[in-house]
Amino acid sequence: MRIATITNFAYVATVVLTLSSGVALFLASNAEHNERAMVAQNRVFDQLTDELEKEAFALSELAREGVIKKQPETIQSWKTRAEQDISLENRLAALRDTGASDEELMILRDGISTLDQLEDEQRIAISDVETGKIDEAMNLLYSANYEERLAESEYRFAHFRSLSDQRTQAAINDATERSLRLRTFSEIMVGLTALLFLFVLGFIIKHRILRPVVTLSDVVNRLATQDYNVEAPVLAQVDEIGDMAQAIRVFRENGLARQRLEQERDAEWATRTLLARMTQRLQGCDSHSAIVRVISRFAPKIIPDMGGRLYLLESRRNRMKCVARWGLPPGEDAPFAPESCWALKRGQLHSPGNGTVDMPCEHVLPEIASRAICVPLNAQNKSIGLLTFDNYTPGKEPPYIYLELLAETLALALANQILRDTLTEKATHDSLTGLRNRYSLEESIRGMIDQAMVEGTLLSCLMLDVDYFKKLNDQHGHEAGDKVLRELARVITDTLGDNGVAFRYGGEEFLLILPNTNEIEAKNVGQTLLNNVSNHIMLYESQDIGPVSVSIGLATWPRHARADNLVRAADLALYRAKEQGRGQIVVARNTG
Ligand code: GH3
Ligand code: MG
Ligand code: MG
Repeated sequence: MRIATITNFAYVATVVLTLSSGVALFLASNAEHNERAMVAQNRVFDQLTDELEKEAFALSELAREGVIKKQPETIQSWKTRAEQDISLENRLAALRDTGASDEELMILRDGISTLDQLEDEQRIAISDVETGKIDEAMNLLYSANYEERLAESEYRFAHFRSLSDQRTQAAINDATERSLRLRTFSEIMVGLTALLFLFVLGFIIKHRILRPVVTLSDVVNRLATQDYNVEAPVLAQVDEIGDMAQAIRVFRENGLARQRLEQERDAEWATRTLLARMTQRLQGCDSHSAIVRVISRFAPKIIPDMGGRLYLLESRRNRMKCVARWGLPPGEDAPFAPESCWALKRGQLHSPGNGTVDMPCEHVLPEIASRAICVPLNAQNKSIGLLTFDNYTPGKEPPYIYLELLAETLALALANQILRDTLTEKATHDSLTGLRNRYSLEESIRGMIDQAMVEGTLLSCLMLDVDYFKKLNDQHGHEAGDKVLRELARVITDTLGDNGVAFRYGGEEFLLILPNTNEIEAKNVGQTLLNNVSNHIMLYESQDIGPVSVSIGLATWPRHARADNLVRAADLALYRAKEQGRGQIVVARNTG
């Protein structure tokens, strides 16, 4: 039941009880008033009958005195009093109808009637005295009959008074009892009103004050510990507690907003910290694979709600190749043509599901195209790669700024790596033949000998020099010589396959290192190479400028040389091959 209903009910009940109590009090007061009126009336009745009785007896005594003394003044005095008696009777007659019972009235009437008869006899006796009939008058007033009736009237009046007293006492008792009942009823009503008041007061204090205050206190305590999950109660009451609840609600909403802002700020700070750390790690990368590992690790943390892929441009095949994937993005990792991506075509982030009509990328599955986001990796106005994201939470604004920051940082790292790779390529490779150059030889050969030492294998080295190359240059020109060197490099690479590494050692000299290869196997490779070179048709400007022959010196570690003079040993063997007529392979002499 609602508190308002209870208070309304209590109000009506209180009014009814109070009115009942008032009416009862009024009635009780009325009963007391009646009681007092009855007492007053009884007193008047007593007084009047008493006076009447006394007067009657006094009149009787005066008549008897007049009869005995026969004095005219006494007789005159009787007559005068007898006249007054009439007014006394009249008064009694006037009062006898005011509340006396029939029985009382009858007794009173009998008493008065007896007195009247006695008075008549007194009048006769007085008249007898005046006419000299003294004896008759004496007989009349002193007779036993006269005495009897005098006593009878006295008895009547006494009886009347007794009955009147009894009636009055009964009425008083009745009024007293009634007054008592009404007062008791009134007191019960007052008590009930007080009880009801106390109950309603207690109920209101409990439900309107204590309970809301306890609830609010609990809410305030939890809010003080920044526990904003607590629900602030909604109190409809229009009072200070209602105001307090409203204030606490506002406080909680402000706290929630502040907490949300702090969380957003913290999340932003964490994302920026991650981005900064990723940038630092990218700066430490020395290869594409290292960059890919870094992005694969950081991207799911920086953009946690979205899966993604990293594609790199394969320039030679003009396609985007997937090199990393995180967060289980839908679709395939298959390569695709750069033209099928709007982000790559425009060089800008492309998000077709941005609530507007837009072109979906062809490389994305049609069913997820509307929530895919492509971010190109641009470096010096060229797209060198692509990040694709799947917006896992539709309706949530993707963090475009972080997507672009991530792409920029990654593009910079990739561009730097490409630049470094290019520089390294230039520093370690020969631009004419594409083979490794002499500068990278030293590091490579040391590493390979160390590995052979660890593995306990052999390592062979072939030093190759073009025969009479000066002459070829002289005959066909330097360009033709360059072409021959390029062709030779290709023949060497093809012949060598995975068996070793070839270097351009000098002008028209090449060095081949064959790990895990003994002297005989190396000699076979050298022989094959001699054959392949001599069988290769050297064309320059569609003109055969061949044949070209080469001489080869062979040295095997550790049989022919120490690690630090293996190349020298092969070179000496080459020298001997030249001496012995060129176009052949010569094995180095055994050491010691
Ligand atoms: P041999 O059989 O004794 O090795 O005789 P050769 O003529 O090959 O030897 P030589 O050392 O006398 O001459 C090497 C020539 O190679 C000299 C140089 O002009 C030429 N040469 C060196 N580097 C290049 C190059 O990069 N391109 C061209 N076209 N010629 C080069
Ligand atoms: Mg030569
Ligand atoms: Mg030479």
